[in-house]
Amino acid sequence: MTAFHDMTVAALAADLQAKKVSATEVAQHFLARSQADASGAFLSFNPEATLAQAKEADAQLAAGTAGPLAGVPMAHKDIFVTTDFPTTAGSKMLEGYRSPFDATVVRKLGVHAGGAGMVNVGKLNCDEFAMGSSNENSAYQSVTNPWDTSRVPGGSSGGSSAAVAARLVPAATGTDTGGSIRQPASFCGITGIKPTYGRASRYGMIAYASSLDQAGPMARSAEDCALLLSALCGPDPDRDSTSLDVPAEDFSRDLQRPLQGLRVGIPAEFFGEGLAADVRVPIEAALQALVDQGAVLVPLHLPRTELAIPVYYILAPAEASSNLSRFDGVKFGHRTKNPADLIDMYKKTRAEGFGDEVKRRIMIGTYVLSHGYYDAYYLQAQKIRRMIASDFQQAFTQCDVIAGPVAPTVAWKIGDKSEDPVASYLADIFTLPASLAGLPGMSLPVGFGEGGMPVGLQLIGNYLQESRLLNLAHRFQQTSDHHLRMPGGAP
Ligand code: GLN
Repeated sequence: MTAFHDMTVAALAADLQAKKVSATEVAQHFLARSQADASGAFLSFNPEATLAQAKEADAQLAAGTAGPLAGVPMAHKDIFVTTDFPTTAGSKMLEGYRSPFDATVVRKLGVHAGGAGMVNVGKLNCDEFAMGSSNENSAYQSVTNPWDTSRVPGGSSGGSSAAVAARLVPAATGTDTGGSIRQPASFCGITGIKPTYGRASRYGMIAYASSLDQAGPMARSAEDCALLLSALCGPDPDRDSTSLDVPAEDFSRDLQRPLQGLRVGIPAEFFGEGLAADVRVPIEAALQALVDQGAVLVPLHLPRTELAIPVYYILAPAEASSNLSRFDGVKFGHRTKNPADLIDMYKKTRAEGFGDEVKRRIMIGTYVLSHGYYDAYYLQAQKIRRMIASDFQQAFTQCDVIAGPVAPTVAWKIGDKSEDPVASYLADIFTLPASLAGLPGMSLPVGFGEGGMPVGLQLIGNYLQESRLLNLAHRFQQTSDHHLRMPGGAP
């Protein structure tokens, strides 16, 4: 019999529904595996809570009231608030924080009435407040990449990507503000999708840059991502004012659709000098595989691709500086000991609670929003953001889906970019444009580059076209096995 950790979400769900296995035995297996992990992927466990959720899933399966993914284990990025586990957002500021409520995404995936029935194994490491591309900004520990433990797993959802790649859990949640689902998925050789902005509720997702933040699933295959995405999306108008008023969808419905005639846009700007040769080769082979299935490649331009970097690194810090003002030592988390007065309390609390990257972004954000600079930076950036979004609309008059690399290189060595924040900002070039436009984007493994490290293909769709992306990815995965490979560093 296949070990539980080698099974997909779809296969585990089928066996659980057929009562071939119990949620409790499955949960015990994944819990033991995850607790033995030494990669730093997990920040917390609560075996009692995990097993209680499994018991509930078993009861629902017995009673015939179970959700579609009942008893399938998963883990949440530690940026989703949970009642059963602490939530830190990878920051000392929230060390030991326990939320009085569950995030909407957590509720929708979990064993609550009406939920999909998944069992939460624990909380996953991430860059502090999701700011980063390598997980090295976590205040707790950095995470190693299971394909090569001297390398980063990507970020900010690096705990999620490392855990899924090492088969500690069959699936995880991530959040993507400027690439944090797609880039770690690419670096760890797994599949991840960020839906259209507003598809998934941001309620209970600790805010980084609210106009960009989106939740999404990370799993080994597109088929598994479709199952989780169907469960976690849907309107939440009373709790998230930017939640889209479109009904939840079955994102699995188009998986098998033939690719005949599908127009795949290839932006020249994604294939310029900055793209490493070892990444370009598997990407081009993947595009050829799509052509072999009947897709047509359409060369096109996204002329403002480079501007996405300065625009994002003005707007995201601006929003972050505002969002993070709530961490003042009064309402949440850490408070300094023995302050001289109120102002001293604010200052010391924030100096002690936040890490360097978070402080850097708060300063940048405050600067670009300040009187005299607002027009020169923030407003300009907003205008260019709009132009980037219209460039995509122009492109989508010529194609159905856009394809390109996720990142210019494979996962880098731990420490390589940690002294140079700008070097790591520049590596976000291919994921930022879709984020700024609010478009859905995904990464799927298509091969290996330097050092045997995984390479991901990025697919970007027009608004609400997630099922198209998943369809393309699934068809690719039907004729390739990159997503089935097991990293050597996995336990
Ligand atoms: N690397 C980008 C940043 O540091 C994106 C992070 C994210 O998507 N959360 O902001």
